[in-house]
Amino acid sequence: MADRIAVVGSNMVDLVTYVNRMPDRGETLEAPDFVLGFGGKGANQAVAAARLGAQVSMVTCVGDDIFGPRTRQNLSDHGIDVSHLRCVEGTPSGVAPIFVAPDGENAILIVKGANAHLSPADIDAAAATLKGCDAILLQLEVPLDTVYHAVAFGARHGVQTILNPAPADPELDLSRLDGLDWFCPNESELALLSGMPTDTDAAVLAAARSLIKRGIRNVIVTLGARGARLVTAEDAVQIAPVRVEAVDTTGAGDAFIGSFARFLSGGATPQQALERAARYAAHSITGRGTQSSYADTETFGVFCR
Ligand code: ATP
Repeated sequence: MADRIAVVGSNMVDLVTYVNRMPDRGETLEAPDFVLGFGGKGANQAVAAARLGAQVSMVTCVGDDIFGPRTRQNLSDHGIDVSHLRCVEGTPSGVAPIFVAPDGENAILIVKGANAHLSPADIDAAAATLKGCDAILLQLEVPLDTVYHAVAFGARHGVQTILNPAPADPELDLSRLDGLDWFCPNESELALLSGMPTDTDAAVLAAARSLIKRGIRNVIVTLGARGARLVTAEDAVQIAPVRVEAVDTTGAGDAFIGSFARFLSGGATPQQALERAARYAAHSITGRGTQSSYADTETFGVFCR
């Protein structure tokens, strides 16, 4: 049977407007193009894991607007179990209005909407599903109390937990992550959480080690085109970047984390899972878009040959 992963996290609808220039305050401008896309860190990571063959359940909230049913459909279309997707009455779905200028410059607004309502009670309601999973995958686009509750749930029931502390949140209390298995920040999240610089490889190592001293067990730092680094109390392993022609790096982090969860749950060693995740994320940046750039098992197999 396929490995089972639960994503306790966000979904967003990206409202991407292509503009000739950014509008000034009070100005109305005509824009040449618009694309609606599905995103949110939780949903992106769920889609990456599902495309690679994992059996994925999502514990998530949508609003009672036109985006709720579309989000549910998009997740179902990827074979993701949505029986723990909750519709919050009187609340909008999470949306991200994004403005993209011709030179690629962008301006992004995040409206958490229903994602801000995902609660510890949603985790308890999904307890039977979560207990049967190989891994629970978490990010920070939902309330911190929900994240802490999921980590404690995983520790109590022997389900490994993976936390991608993104977007960076200075309020994250590391002392409430007791039992967390994998902590996966990028460089800037690591800098914020450690209060240390991360501008060189030596600085990244020192900052990751400072988190280990504060009780975090395994730190995986993603370093963009420089690959990734796994730091534990005993060891530090560099994961080499996979060289590709970058077309669009949006969503590389989510491709990396979602695929890492899939490979690890599938029985790979941590180092193997990270090397494959680096490969999967590298493939994702060779195509446009976020979820649309995530390979399925077959395409990924061809890329790895
Ligand atoms: P985003 O927020 O854009 O999704 P992130 O900051 O969370 O990204 P990154 O560290 O930029 O995450 O990228 C995640 C992983 O993707 C990296 O660890 C690396 O393996 C791979 N990657 C990203 N950019 C490149 C690149 N230009 N070339 C090769 N691999 C890349």
